[in-house]
Amino acid sequence: MREGDPADTHLADVLATQRAAFEADPSPSLAIRRDRLDRIARLLTERAEEICAVVSRDFGHRSVHETTMLEIVPLMSALRHTRAHLKRWMKPERRGRSLEFLQLSNWVQYQPVGVVGIMVPWNYPIFLALGPLIDILAAGNRAIIKPSELLPQTSARLARLIADYFAPEEVTVIEGGVEVASAFSALPFDHLIFTGSTAVGKKVMAAAAANLTPVTLELGGKSPTIVAPDCDHASAARDIVFGKMMNAGQTCIAPDYVLVERSRLDQFVGTIVSEIERCYPHRISPSQYTGIVGDRAYRRLLDAVQECRDRGVRLVAADIALPQTGASLAPTLVVDPPIDCRLMEEEIFGPILPIIPYDTLDDAIAFVRARPRPLALYLFTGSSETERKVLANTISGNVTVNGTLLHVAQNDLPFGGIGPSGLGAYHGFDGFKRFSHPRGVTKVRIFNPTRLAMPPYGRLTGILAKIMGRG
Ligand code: NAD
Repeated sequence: MREGDPADTHLADVLATQRAAFEADPSPSLAIRRDRLDRIARLLTERAEEICAVVSRDFGHRSVHETTMLEIVPLMSALRHTRAHLKRWMKPERRGRSLEFLQLSNWVQYQPVGVVGIMVPWNYPIFLALGPLIDILAAGNRAIIKPSELLPQTSARLARLIADYFAPEEVTVIEGGVEVASAFSALPFDHLIFTGSTAVGKKVMAAAAANLTPVTLELGGKSPTIVAPDCDHASAARDIVFGKMMNAGQTCIAPDYVLVERSRLDQFVGTIVSEIERCYPHRISPSQYTGIVGDRAYRRLLDAVQECRDRGVRLVAADIALPQTGASLAPTLVVDPPIDCRLMEEEIFGPILPIIPYDTLDDAIAFVRARPRPLALYLFTGSSETERKVLANTISGNVTVNGTLLHVAQNDLPFGGIGPSGLGAYHGFDGFKRFSHPRGVTKVRIFNPTRLAMPPYGRLTGILAKIMGRG
């Protein structure tokens, strides 16, 4: 941080206020934590309409159904789950002891860490701000949220909503551009969770390293979909379209590209296009299809498609009703593009779907393995042998078999990436643990065994060393 800059001083003051409040109550009771969770639930239910409206304005256009189903509904589900299990999670976790330490008892105490920073991308501005917040508050911490500057109205509304339901020393929002985001990542938080691109994630981790602030990085990347020869292709196409078309492809775990057996390539392309056209027919209001956020992103997608067109790649655009407001892009399939085109080198993050043919399942697995470890992997198969083979031979943050996106909504599964797609996982108990310090506690009961190993050393020490050092 640049010392003396008033904006930085403000950030430091906000952090100091929260830290002082944390020090005054470093171990909030179950009742306090539940009350904080209940206030998130009230915020979401009482203010759902204005949330949907403001997000749609910032997106140019965003389907109310998508904001409800993909942001508000999963948050309410996570809140119910956390509320129901929090009492058990907060209990000391009994641990074992070895034979020579039978006199002791061991347990893990999950302690709040203090003040946690939350850095939020624009694509799911409510889910990715309040999702981490649920786990952070459940773990007994306080939080400061930095929303994305790309959605200025949503960020301002979130700041007001949080202020309506929380005291600033519990949860608060810091608004501002990239400068503020950069200063935010350099604050000495007790933990920092960043959701966003891999490139910015590297900068955030470097800034946090200066303070030795632990980080959770929820990043992006190219999530592959393998369509095995044995699966029901029509059903797979339906699920792929669901995963790709939600939020117009601007989803971190959207299927980025699809691998399909060469002999079924054309048929599969046709099935996907019909499926997209079935979802967004001309006879219904085009308001169900979401816009692309930001001119830069829109141009980037158009340029990447143009590159493929210039290189003679077959493009198949679906004929759907496009909204007149905002920047909308027709869903486009890119059939067998060269692997060195932009669409195959960068995360797509839009309604463009490359379909890549493979000859054998081993080739498809090798294609995935040759690329950076993705955030999500999708597999469609009816064979448990194929499932076992793909799960054993690929690495990714999460997997959904015979569906798309579903793993992110499972409250009892860790969600996160690996390597370039992220570091650390949260949601449910895994989130509670992620934002807690697992303090190992050993307690001496009745007799302390080290008394037998004290100097002056004699025969007993030798016997003990033999017993304890046995193979
Ligand atoms: P982004 O990396 O551009 O921005 C994310 C956040 O970083 C924003 O709040 C922004 O203010 C901040 N930021 C920007 N420049 C910064 C800097 N120099 N220093 C510090 N902070 C800075 O990402 P985005 O465009 O908002 O979101 C899209 C990306 O996020 C995609 O790559 C997507 O895959 C990823 N994503 C991942 C997940 C996940 O759960 N893993 C979820 C959603 C999105």
